[in-house]
Amino acid sequence: MFPRKQWFSTLLFSLPLILPLLGVVWVARLDLSPQQQAAPTVAPTVAPTVAPTVAPTEPVPDPTATPEPSPRRSLSLLTPTDPPYIPILMYHYVREVEESVDPLGFRLSVRPERFVEQLAWLRDQGYETLLMRELAACLRGELRCPARSVALTFDDGYSDQFQAALPALQQYGFRATFYIVTGHVGREGYMDWEQLEQLRDRGMEVAAHTVSHADLASLPLEQALVEINGSRAALESRLGVDVVSFSYPAGSYSPELARTLWEAGFTSAVTTAQHDDLSHLYELPRRRVLGGETIAGYPWYFRPLPREGR
Ligand SMILES: [Zn+2]
Repeated sequence: MFPRKQWFSTLLFSLPLILPLLGVVWVARLDLSPQQQAAPTVAPTVAPTVAPTVAPTEPVPDPTATPEPSPRRSLSLLTPTDPPYIPILMYHYVREVEESVDPLGFRLSVRPERFVEQLAWLRDQGYETLLMRELAACLRGELRCPARSVALTFDDGYSDQFQAALPALQQYGFRATFYIVTGHVGREGYMDWEQLEQLRDRGMEVAAHTVSHADLASLPLEQALVEINGSRAALESRLGVDVVSFSYPAGSYSPELARTLWEAGFTSAVTTAQHDDLSHLYELPRRRVLGGETIAGYPWYFRPLPREGR
């Protein structure tokens, strides 16, 4: 009897030692899971608020009833009382251009050395760059955002984005989202498919900006759908990526288009509107970084705009 009791007592008193050890082994196994290693920042595709199973006491759903829109994501984010402000910056060209020769081009261009200065400022201020698909997940509460987050976006797919912006981004370990007009890929002045592959391979997000840079709000919906789905299909088939982020050409959008993008499975869409309301994932505002902007003016893009006059 005594040896058996002694064995039992030993086991009982060892439990506080053994259980934490088992816990360490389990946590270590989690750390080594291939999904975590492969994609540490990818957001889950299912919103955490969606109940995974139907309670057994609930009635069985009527299979003939009209299905509700996909519960994966809601069209309008349920805005928290204090939504985080994450600046979304909009760039077009990173190049030298004379204001007197091309005033509009100058306005859309940031000089390469100025762009490098801006990235250095971001690093010094402790900013981390989010891809747009990550920002959308942050706003939905599916991904924890770093305290100082910014999303850098480039529109239209100009070749200087590959030649000047990409090396600078890589120099600082930053990432950005590039909205591509697929009908312009390979044209003079635009990136080609090999360059887009390199963007993809360097951790950038390649996103859709229609086939022909059409003014979507002025088109019949069927034609707008051809522009939206055509650009996504081309990027997905040529690059083998999931395209979930969209930019409206010239910021031209409507509530109908926003709903269409949601139904098509996009997770966000950006406009050219300048405000700080991030509560509508398919009408996200952006700050246009002006040509000629000095580094002294750069911090302005990171301060929320005054509430009045919206
Ligand atoms: Zn554009």
